[in-house]
Amino acid sequence: MCIFCKVAKREIPARIVFEDDDLVAFHDINPVAPIHVLVIPKQHISGIGEVTADQAEVLGKLLVAARRVAEDAGLMPSGFRVVINHGQHAGQTVHHIHVHVLGGRPLAWPPG
Ligand code: AMP
Ligand code: ZN
Repeated sequence: MCIFCKVAKREIPARIVFEDDDLVAFHDINPVAPIHVLVIPKQHISGIGEVTADQAEVLGKLLVAARRVAEDAGLMPSGFRVVINHGQHAGQTVHHIHVHVLGGRPLAWPPG
């Protein structure tokens, strides 16, 4: 079982900020911004490159939850970034799709 499936099943500890029937949001273990939360589906999907049309609903829920996480963290006034990495060039290290919610400092664009 992958590491984020274990987080979703609470088999390994995480600082969970939000959970519902489909999703879990938790603080990144190695934050790169003052707010760095990951939102994952409980269902294992390995990456954005593998999604299929029948997963559109859960993917939409990921983005709605990302907005909620940002709002709850107080990031609406200052702004935030939502990121999904896929594959080697994007630096994907965990092969269970996850949305990064980043904020709390100015974020450079374009990314390096
Ligand atoms: P990515 O490069 O998009 O695959 O990002 C994976 C992210 O997962 C990284 O930012 C890691 O710091 C984070 N991460 C890995 N293991 C854990 C964990 N057990 N709990 C929380 N975050 C984790
Ligand atoms: Zn998984």
